[in-house]
Amino acid sequence: MGKGVYTFGGNRNEGSASMRNLLGGKGCNLAEMAGLGIPVPPGFTLTTEQCGAYYTNGRQLAEELKAEVLAALKWLEGVRGCGFGATENPLLLSVRSGARVSMPGMMDTVLNLGLNDQTVQALERASGNPRFAWDSYRRFITMYSNVVLNVEHALFEAELERAKERLGKHQDTDLSAEDWKKLVSAFKEIVLEETGKAFPQEPMEQLWGAIRAVFESWNTARAITYRRLNRIPDDWGTGVNVQSMVFGNMGDDCGTGVAFTRDPATGERLFYGEYLINAQGEDVVAGIRTPQPITRSQAEGTGLKSLEEAMPDSFKELDATCQRLEQHFKDMQDIEFTIERGKLFLLQTRNGKRTAMAGIRIAIDLVDEGLIDSKTALKRIDADSLSQLLAPVFDPKEKDRLRKEGHLLTKGLNAGPGAATGRIALTAEQAEKMAPEGPVVLVRVETSPEDISGMVASQGILTARGGMTSHAAVVARGMGKPCVCGASAIQIDLTRGIVKVGDHELKGGQDWISIDGSTGEVFAGKLSAHPSEVNQVLVDGRLKVEDSELYQRFAKIMRWSHEAKRMKVRTNADTPHDAAVARAFGAEGIGLCRTEHMFFEGDRIIAVREMILASDTEGRKKALAKLLPMQREDFEGIFTAMNGLPVNIRLLDPPLHEFLPQDEAGQKEMAEVIGVDLGTVERRVAQLHEFNPMMGHRGCRLGITFPEIIRMQVRAIAEAALNVAAKGIKAVPEIMVPLIGTVRELAYTKTEMLDEIAQVNKERGTQFACPMGTMIEIPRAAITSDKIAAEAEFFSFGTNDLTQMGFGFSRDDAGTFLPEYVGKKILEDDPFQSLDQEGIGELVRISCEKGRSARPGIKLGVCGEHGGDPRSVVFFHKVGLDYVSCSPYRVPIATLAAAQAALEQ
Ligand code: ADP
Ligand code: MG
Ligand code: MG
Repeated sequence: MGKGVYTFGGNRNEGSASMRNLLGGKGCNLAEMAGLGIPVPPGFTLTTEQCGAYYTNGRQLAEELKAEVLAALKWLEGVRGCGFGATENPLLLSVRSGARVSMPGMMDTVLNLGLNDQTVQALERASGNPRFAWDSYRRFITMYSNVVLNVEHALFEAELERAKERLGKHQDTDLSAEDWKKLVSAFKEIVLEETGKAFPQEPMEQLWGAIRAVFESWNTARAITYRRLNRIPDDWGTGVNVQSMVFGNMGDDCGTGVAFTRDPATGERLFYGEYLINAQGEDVVAGIRTPQPITRSQAEGTGLKSLEEAMPDSFKELDATCQRLEQHFKDMQDIEFTIERGKLFLLQTRNGKRTAMAGIRIAIDLVDEGLIDSKTALKRIDADSLSQLLAPVFDPKEKDRLRKEGHLLTKGLNAGPGAATGRIALTAEQAEKMAPEGPVVLVRVETSPEDISGMVASQGILTARGGMTSHAAVVARGMGKPCVCGASAIQIDLTRGIVKVGDHELKGGQDWISIDGSTGEVFAGKLSAHPSEVNQVLVDGRLKVEDSELYQRFAKIMRWSHEAKRMKVRTNADTPHDAAVARAFGAEGIGLCRTEHMFFEGDRIIAVREMILASDTEGRKKALAKLLPMQREDFEGIFTAMNGLPVNIRLLDPPLHEFLPQDEAGQKEMAEVIGVDLGTVERRVAQLHEFNPMMGHRGCRLGITFPEIIRMQVRAIAEAALNVAAKGIKAVPEIMVPLIGTVRELAYTKTEMLDEIAQVNKERGTQFACPMGTMIEIPRAAITSDKIAAEAEFFSFGTNDLTQMGFGFSRDDAGTFLPEYVGKKILEDDPFQSLDQEGIGELVRISCEKGRSARPGIKLGVCGEHGGDPRSVVFFHKVGLDYVSCSPYRVPIATLAAAQAALEQ
């Protein structure tokens, strides 16, 4: 292993932004800023490799590493001109974690390390500010004890609350040096009682303890959960940043804060942030005091004093520095700063988390500003997040009504856009418990990393405390959940299990609440949702293009994506309506039209049942004759909607008993409608019963045993195409045979189909023809694809069935064990959601290769659910499919994912 420690700042800056994997995001960006000449307190970074080494070394710090740390520390003392543990002018440190990608709130930081009973007095003398010295010491004891010694935070909090009550003081800032001094003694008592040992006084022991704790924090339950949710590999490890302290808590010419270069909720280009005077580190995000706005415009109407007014010089420098950082990193920055006696220091910068809306707006604006090109912009947008743009919003009229009726409870901060409605859950556990029975909104005073699973289970999150950068806000935005935070009018009584707002009392676990994360409004009761702006423009035409900036941005992303991608994106649609919606979203054809869905509509099911009940071919043909015009009409509708675009129609696939009622009442009714006796129906149902219908009499097997069924379907397709052609509409049908295992099944079916088409052509004097192909969804078909390609003009991978048959997992039963498989890491993901590339994907790859070898240029597509999963789409691009197909609302996501796949290569 190479060098384990890299210095940053001062006169020796060894890192840079390009060393992210080795130094972690925080460490490499601190070095990058220092390299740009931006004031950063100097320090050093232990590499992420050292985290892995720590674990392989039996959770011990290696001697070589310790030596490197000591050398770096010596350098740091020289640069800062003070000594670690010195009784005159002591050096104090922060110890901070930092993985490759930021894991907000997942790892803990220790500030003011190096303080003890002696150095605190030295700090008192050096700063001339006893209150500051003792405030810092008590912070250090609290943080160190919590992070390193595992003493519960609440014990210190309670002690502090008792002291405040005794002293009649409200704010932390009201406490004097003497008050803090007494608290320090009390805190040390707590540590002794809880750990059986005195609080460590030896600074080096403190430092080793904190470094170890950062490495340990990589494997806390909450860090592991976060990694799983965000697909961060366990072996990346975290770096440790040891940095000299700067102090925002030395007096009223000091402060600390966080800022964004653009609005993380909307993406609007405005400098934005929160700060506190005379405070340190986490105070701003912890919600202990209400943070103040950074800019004058942000402060307008709040009665709060902005940094711009309070410290104009520091503000100017901060603003300029942030703009510079944004230009440098070419992306919206989320920064932390501290002002020590009027001097500004930057403590962190990173590409800021943002909502889907903001992400899109920022990407487009940066292109317009000439900072990045459109390809870079596309790569930056999370394809899945487009679904948020299409997510429903509340009906404004209904909101008005609720407002008039006095159900608007309060307004908080609009921290994560989108509309959420659900029953109230007061704890994360309650949310998880309630979620299976319907939508839940998690209502908390504030959230903490322990609440992650509950947040996942909820539709939205509402907090009483905390700003736009609070844990709830950051995490909710990352998850794409609607979030309203800092709704301070809300009181939560956990013992009674109620939420109180003014005169309203809502019961947790029972009453409904609705939050609008775009406006911050909180309503009592249920609200129904309303289609997104994009839908309003594209689907129901209620909104004009020029009236929706959101839509215009969406359209731009789609235009760029269409330019960049190679694969076509089709949709799975069975009705003219779905086809039209998908086409509006940019679908370039239908990849899967399931004909069985048409069999359920209206009176059709009667004819279908007659067909199934018929005891002979003649009877079946009679019933099928009734179905023919209906099926033909369906196809005419779809061909019309897709005018000029390909429509891939799959012949009847499910087992016939799915069309029969299984309960007695249903069977009675059916017997009456069709005019047979109940016994006949019962016998037929019993006959059709299958032990394993998924692998039973279905797919092409139906057409082989009852050719008249597929003949009717093929005739309907041919006649529909000819009928619409007469009206000037261009139908481009493709006929797909499901569930082929051997080429002979396809050959047999094709003979029947071609014969029926020949008959239609003879009757009409036409020359209709269309491509015929098959689904590849049985492993045998995948590995004999060269043979099958002799008969098939195209393949469409039915990856749902291929996953089911390839794994031997019944899709309908997998719910009982798949979550455990994923939890225990036997599988990375649910293979029905994201393609198992190693196994099922390999079947797809082999099939493509063999198919092409026998029929060069064979058309290849996918029509399983995976066609709308961005990671699977990237895979399909790589194996060279011609198109993916997915549900109408996933079309934009698949389009962007296809573009990203093309840009990746
Ligand atoms: P997180 O990843 O949770 O944000 P950080 O390591 O960034 O944790 O630090 C937590 C807080 O402590 C931040 O507000 C940061 O600005 C502050 N902080 C960290 N290091 C220092 C330092 N050397 N001097 C002053 N404040 C610091
Ligand atoms: Mg931070
Ligand atoms: Mg199938």
